[in-house]
Amino acid sequence: MRLWVLKERVANELRELLGRERAAIVAQDPHARRRPRPCGITIHPGHGCPLRCAYCYIYDMGFTAEPRPYPLSGEELAYALAKNPYVVPERTLAAFGSVTEPLLPVLKKRTLEYATSISKWLRLPIQLSTKLLIDESFVEGLYKADPAASILVSVSSLKYWRKLEPNAPEPLLRIERASIAVEKGLRVDLFLRPIIPGLLSQNEVKELFVAAKDAGFSGVVAGSLRVTRSIVERLLSTGIPAEVLKKSLRSIKLSRKQVPIPDHSTKEIVRLVAAEVGLEYLPSACAANIRSHGMGCALCRFGPCGNPPLPDPTDIGEFLEMLGLRASVSFTGYTIKVMLRRGDERRARIAKDFLSEIYKRRVVLRSV
Ligand code: SF4
Ligand code: SF4
Repeated sequence: MRLWVLKERVANELRELLGRERAAIVAQDPHARRRPRPCGITIHPGHGCPLRCAYCYIYDMGFTAEPRPYPLSGEELAYALAKNPYVVPERTLAAFGSVTEPLLPVLKKRTLEYATSISKWLRLPIQLSTKLLIDESFVEGLYKADPAASILVSVSSLKYWRKLEPNAPEPLLRIERASIAVEKGLRVDLFLRPIIPGLLSQNEVKELFVAAKDAGFSGVVAGSLRVTRSIVERLLSTGIPAEVLKKSLRSIKLSRKQVPIPDHSTKEIVRLVAAEVGLEYLPSACAANIRSHGMGCALCRFGPCGNPPLPDPTDIGEFLEMLGLRASVSFTGYTIKVMLRRGDERRARIAKDFLSEIYKRRVVLRSV
């Protein structure tokens, strides 16, 4: 109930601050409607990226190589998020960096502006992934916004990075520079992605992990490759060894739609080498954000990560009543079951999503 009330209060305060006319426009922004995935709600400090990594999917999504800061101010973005029915203050993970590179010089200021604003108004746990070099002033700003912010340093390969990410800095330098954030007290994890089938050797993985450990990183996340027809064409034209990749693609029908290409054997190597080097192996990027903020989550089959909050039946009952819903609530494992006896079904679905974010568990809603 506290978080529901907080969200309404924040939306009201920001509406007053922005003025009704501007608020009505901001309420139409995709940040006010996008449904968070278990990994969180993606925050776009801008669109487009000039780095042209060979595996990048943003160009297939219609974004260009010319980055442009997102048009909303920090307070407008916080308002859009407060209006988003799926976003819960203090709980919904906020992930920066899905359709651009948040540390691009033209976007860095906006990234910090957004981090500061959503942290101030909604206290969302912030995570940022980057392959650019982290500097002291950025770390200061991010730490000020959210001292538990999670940073993911993205690397795809030590041996072939020039072919895959020709415009990004050298991977070992990315790792070394991220130690500035570690020294400040932020959690930093290595984001080994995308894993291109058959490309990484065990030695290469080890060299990367030892460097990450030396720089004070906490763990490692392995991310799968997602391909479209044009990504495959770009990857094959780089000249990287692609025999295994070609085999993995045999049964795939390529189009503009993104298809994940998992590489279980490399992931297994990653898991083993992480244990050997002393880095925590994390099943997904969100797990790093959950750890960084001392939270717990059992929203997907990879979890539980940490200890998800224990559902409180009295609190849930009062919350549902506040929304005019009469329901009985039970728990099975990490799942909360809500049997709706009376009340509006649309409201019940909103309550379901809200409860799921609060307790970071699956909620099953049935009408009886
Ligand atoms: S840095 Fe990120 S957004 Fe930019 S091209 Fe590379 S993968 Fe795409
Ligand atoms: S259970 Fe872990 S991996 Fe799954 S959504 Fe939650 S934090 Fe992410």
